Amino acid sequence: MLYRTLGSTGLSVSIIGFGASPLGDVFDLTDPAEGEKAVRAAIDAGVNLFDVSPFYGLTLAEKRLGKALRGRRDKVVLATKCGRYAEDSFDFSARSVKASIENSLARLHTDYVDLLQAHDVEFGDVRQIVEETIPALRTVQKEGKARYIGITGYPLPLLAEIANQQKVDTILSYCRYNLLVNDLDAVLAPLAEAKGIGLMNASPLHMGVLTERGAPPWHPAPQQVKTAGSRVVELCRSWGFDAPVVALRFSLNYPKAASTLVGMSTRAQVEANLSTLDCDLPAGLLAAIEHAVAPVKNTIWPSGRAENAEPPSRLA
Ligand code: NAD
Repeated sequence: MLYRTLGSTGLSVSIIGFGASPLGDVFDLTDPAEGEKAVRAAIDAGVNLFDVSPFYGLTLAEKRLGKALRGRRDKVVLATKCGRYAEDSFDFSARSVKASIENSLARLHTDYVDLLQAHDVEFGDVRQIVEETIPALRTVQKEGKARYIGITGYPLPLLAEIANQQKVDTILSYCRYNLLVNDLDAVLAPLAEAKGIGLMNASPLHMGVLTERGAPPWHPAPQQVKTAGSRVVELCRSWGFDAPVVALRFSLNYPKAASTLVGMSTRAQVEANLSTLDCDLPAGLLAAIEHAVAPVKNTIWPSGRAENAEPPSRLA
């Protein structure tokens, strides 16, 4: 395994991070016993960053991850979130942050997390996030219940705006740097670098689009993006590669993200994703993929409150 430093936190995190949302059956029904084995196999292979949230499976992912980490807590950098609790349930108040971390710690069977993040800040009021939520996260940090604090979300300009107004240790961005999109590099990475903010790049498979199974029914991307993703999967197959391996390898090559968070729930996925560490991508395949995705490249979708919206892309 390779490790990179997560901004100014100094935490050394594996370049492949374990996204735990699939443990909460967010993509499909999973086998909890297999999920536990997947977590342990990943730890044995040197994966040390685990990301979860009370939102994933309405607390199921935290409960399952907590169980899987019993006896192994000291081997991992554990990140969870607060503020988002269901599809349409958000509370970024200081009171909610305080209660949420207590509940998360109980579910995760630990007395601290390494990182506590405000989850999907575009669904909140920016003023509240800046003046109330982030200060509340700092209080949790002072109490020793979180070592560092951060924000997560989809609209890049908003993440930048918040980080410019209030100091955060980390930013988690998703679906903004992979085979289909690369605007993370222009919009957020320079700011993160300048401020010493640890950057995590989530969803290298574009939340399932770049897998044989394809996008889950709730996936927000326009149909053209899903169709282009299927074409990428076919192309990879015709070159003798599994699309997730190609897609993950591509994201791992991006040096400005300390870690790429990929969602996993089985040992087979862990094994396949670890194989990317020793995999070189043929230039011809990458060129063919670039050509295939060109018509939809950097397509984004709306997320969050209207006042937090970013300018739409061509197909959105
Ligand atoms: P992803 O792009 O990592 O895709 C996950 C899907 O791909 C799952 O269905 C998984 O089972 C499947 N998969 C993984 N490896 C595979 C393989 N080798 N072969 C076939 N299928 C494979 O999307 P994601 O899970 O949404 O993102 C990764 C993690 O990043 C999440 O679990 C979460 O921890 C984090 N995340 C956070 C936010 C946020 O904070 N707002 C948003 C998105 C993701």
